[in-house]
Amino acid sequence: MGGLIPESFIQELLGRLDIVEVIERHLPLKRAGREYQACCPFHDEKTPSFTVSPQKQFYHCFGCGAHGSVIGFAMNYEGLEFVDAVEDLARHAGLTVPREATRKAQPSAGLYEVMEAAACFYQDQLKTSQEAIDYLKKRGLSGEIAKEFGIGFAPSGWDNLMKHFGGDGKRPGGDEKKLSLLQRAGLLSEGKSGSYDKFRHRIMFPIHDRRGRVIGFGGRALDDDGPKYLNSPETELFHKGRELYGLYLARKGQAKLQQIIVVEGYMDVAALAQFGFHNCVATLGTATTGDQAELLFRAASEVVYCFDGDEAGRKAAWRALEATLPRLREGRQAKFLFLPDGEDPDTMVRSQGAGVFAALLDAAQPLSEFFFDHFTAAVDMASIDGRAKLVEMARPQVEMIPGGVFHDMMFSRLEALAQHRLLTSRSRAAGGSGKAPIGRKPAQYRTPMRTALAHLVQNPSLAALAGDMNRFSGCDLPGIEIYRELVDFCAKHPNMTTAQLLEFWHEHPARPHLITLASWQFPGEEKLLAQEFRDAVTGIELQWTELQIAHTPKIVDLGPDEKAALLQLQQHRQALIEALQGDKTQTGVSG
Ligand SMILES: [Zn+2]
Repeated sequence: MGGLIPESFIQELLGRLDIVEVIERHLPLKRAGREYQACCPFHDEKTPSFTVSPQKQFYHCFGCGAHGSVIGFAMNYEGLEFVDAVEDLARHAGLTVPREATRKAQPSAGLYEVMEAAACFYQDQLKTSQEAIDYLKKRGLSGEIAKEFGIGFAPSGWDNLMKHFGGDGKRPGGDEKKLSLLQRAGLLSEGKSGSYDKFRHRIMFPIHDRRGRVIGFGGRALDDDGPKYLNSPETELFHKGRELYGLYLARKGQAKLQQIIVVEGYMDVAALAQFGFHNCVATLGTATTGDQAELLFRAASEVVYCFDGDEAGRKAAWRALEATLPRLREGRQAKFLFLPDGEDPDTMVRSQGAGVFAALLDAAQPLSEFFFDHFTAAVDMASIDGRAKLVEMARPQVEMIPGGVFHDMMFSRLEALAQHRLLTSRSRAAGGSGKAPIGRKPAQYRTPMRTALAHLVQNPSLAALAGDMNRFSGCDLPGIEIYRELVDFCAKHPNMTTAQLLEFWHEHPARPHLITLASWQFPGEEKLLAQEFRDAVTGIELQWTELQIAHTPKIVDLGPDEKAALLQLQQHRQALIEALQGDKTQTGVSG
């Protein structure tokens, strides 16, 4: 994401903008203590759980789990891509987005032009090929739709496209630069005796990016030579897992659709458009990826995955479900529609008509149903063992759903099916203070480690109080590696906001964890935060000391040196406990 825009600019932009000001352009915000609140724009609610922190430069909804920096807000609220969101915000801030000038960072030079020219070439070829026109007619595709989708034709022969660009495989001749562009664009294949056209004797479907530029092609074979469907290879412009065929056309003219339908092939997209379903896209010969699921939800609040009812189709649907789970928040819905064996949307809509297809869409299976059917079909629900197996299989998947009403309901459903009350990491965390209200993600249990990390993420300048890291040498407490890394990072960047820090760590595996911690509330006064952080660090040290004591063999087995070391550990433990208690009393007196 945003590979073209230098990281330093993203940081500058985040430093320049005020998230409160930006969000206030869209939502009325009310001050509440150190933060601002509103009813969440991303889910339906009557009492505000959407909070914006000017200090962290971060928003978080306690209802649906939506969160992010000002860039994330622009992406989610306005349905923008990362680059577009950055450009928009920069314009508002009076900044110009610089572009990294390296060759690698400018894949576009000439490539977009070549793709566009190739698309035109294929379209021209279609006009003069009776064979291709007959084929499209036979498939029932109207000229109008062919035009709208820019459908073309790659004639048979090895070098039609190459010749069009002024060369042939053996003797590139005239324009070598153009040929090398064709190669980089993925339009040529390499053989023993040179290059040749990759797409031959195929109906050509141009694949557009979100700005409508051609970045790849899908080709449907007209004969049995080679694969039935052939896509462009991965190139500098084209990344299958991050694109959806038809998305540009589906979104043309409207930023947010109510529903988007995901089908398997280009022909399905085109056929459905001809029958009035202009909200269809296709994955590009790959399983649905997380990136694609995110794109889908940014385009529409309801996603219907429409697959064949056969085993391959069900497998593909399950992969789509897995990509979708971590992205389900309130206001986002996914459904599954399985077509009868041997049918695809193209044949279906033609034989049964638009009305029947619309009715099928209405009756699509909700994700929750597909989810539990999938598991309950695999085990013997009448036996305890079977239900235990169900929990074992389904629980990790339910835990992938972000906290919120939907997560809670899926969890309750799992409990009901298992006929057993389950403890989640989340419900356990709520323990002591009673059950968390439904719809609120219960706070994670505040271990010293999590508390220390949360303080650092929220106030990087606290790293200065972390003290000597050597006292944790050899320590293997969970989270200690992240703690080390975060202290080190924050010490170097004490003035960063939470949003900037998380942007820097956007590819770090610990990022989701840190985002949760970024939303923790520390209700005490600001001047107490430093003390809370120190206490948390002391708490980590105490845990580590206790672990070392616990791992020391029985005292009778120890030599004199080891006995002395153990005594030292015990004394240190006592000192740490007293330090923590001393702070409590002090806090009690002053507070
Ligand atoms: Zn929300």
